[in-house]
Amino acid sequence: MIKAVVGANWGDEGKGKITDMLAEKADYIVRFQGGANAGHTIVNDYGKFALHTLPSGVFYNHTTSVIGNGVALNIPILINEIKSITDKGVPAPKIAVSNRAQIVMPYHILFDQYEEERLGKASFGSTKSGIAPFYSDKYAKIGFQVSELFDDELLQEKIPRVCAQKNVLLEHLYHKPAIDEKELLDTLHEYRDMIAPYVCDVSLMLDKALKEGKTVLLEGQLGTLKDPDHGIYPMVTSSSTLAAYGAIGAGVAPYEIKEIVTVCKAYSSAVGAGAFVSEIFGDEADELRRRGGDGGEFGATTGRPRRMGWFDCVASKYGCRMQGTTDVAFTVLDVLGYLDEIPVCVGYEIDGEVTTDFPVTSKLEKAKPVLKTLPGWKEDIRGIKNFDELPENCRNYVEFIEEQIGYPITMVSNGPGRSDIIYRKSPLSK
Ligand code: GDP
Repeated sequence: MIKAVVGANWGDEGKGKITDMLAEKADYIVRFQGGANAGHTIVNDYGKFALHTLPSGVFYNHTTSVIGNGVALNIPILINEIKSITDKGVPAPKIAVSNRAQIVMPYHILFDQYEEERLGKASFGSTKSGIAPFYSDKYAKIGFQVSELFDDELLQEKIPRVCAQKNVLLEHLYHKPAIDEKELLDTLHEYRDMIAPYVCDVSLMLDKALKEGKTVLLEGQLGTLKDPDHGIYPMVTSSSTLAAYGAIGAGVAPYEIKEIVTVCKAYSSAVGAGAFVSEIFGDEADELRRRGGDGGEFGATTGRPRRMGWFDCVASKYGCRMQGTTDVAFTVLDVLGYLDEIPVCVGYEIDGEVTTDFPVTSKLEKAKPVLKTLPGWKEDIRGIKNFDELPENCRNYVEFIEEQIGYPITMVSNGPGRSDIIYRKSPLSK
């Protein structure tokens, strides 16, 4: 059976930790979208790791880590990431890379930088990992599939065809050096040799695994609000962040996805530009940022400070619905233990009307948060294993949010480690 772990919001909800935890009982962990533009932070017995490309299950030796066809594959980053974990004493992981995954080319990264430079103030706050140029080329049908690396005749024909188009833009739009075709071919040969040991037909491999009763975990990157269709377009990422896309980006049947664990953080954070209704500023934001996550809310890829806000029930209800949530994992609750009172965003006021339904971007820009303030619990809740043992105000906070979002919170995370988790029976569970 397949389980998906996905984000309800803007990403950084703590999916890495939840995947790492659920991976204990999984056989395959699959990345199905996105690239090295976001990162998961994982704390375990080997140390603290920021993964950008490898799935979070890579620390167990019973699992196979899979890069699905939907991923934007940056080959040197993948290879360096494998090395960085084995250098720290993690046993060499089993890795499978889809022969249908497409490759982030060196020029995708350059185009990403050049375009952000060109846009200046109007830029999207891209991580400049080449993701948007990559997916543009994929859908313009001028991307390179992993399988094509092994076909020299094809490469010789395709490289000049693609470069002709790229070089016009480089010369006339960006005023930058042209791509050298020979150099590009050499780079692709290097990529081929690096990736060769891992390449396979991932879809077929997973089909066999499912027939044998194995468990497959799909690991999403970012969250619902960064989805290109259902998120805060255009301040979104370039591939779908929804569990449903897992079927496409891994090459499996949609009806095999039986459980969808949507991760919600107990407060909000976001990176990049775009409307963020429950955002807070100044000292209030600084303190939450400093105390947040495990060592502060700073981007795992870029190190830049994240934008902070109170929990947003409107965005999270929508985020959970679009994912098709069966279970909510509510994370980083321990961090809120310092607050006397905790505001929660329970509605959006748009043009004088209050709604709890998440609007389209043009309306979102006008939304003002309707806040309700709940009492804090002023206690360190790390180490607690049972929901009933949490302070009453803390339980009330979880129950209030569950009622607002309408999806069952069955896991509460109260620390960054694998074992910092409280399982809970929810009245909303089916
Ligand atoms: P992801 O991309 O969704 O995996 O999110 P991040 O990598 O940004 O993870 C959020 C941060 O919170 C990481 O530093 C985690 O180690 C940390 N974290 C996850 N769950 C918890 C938790 O319950 N409590 C605390 N304090 N930190 C957590």
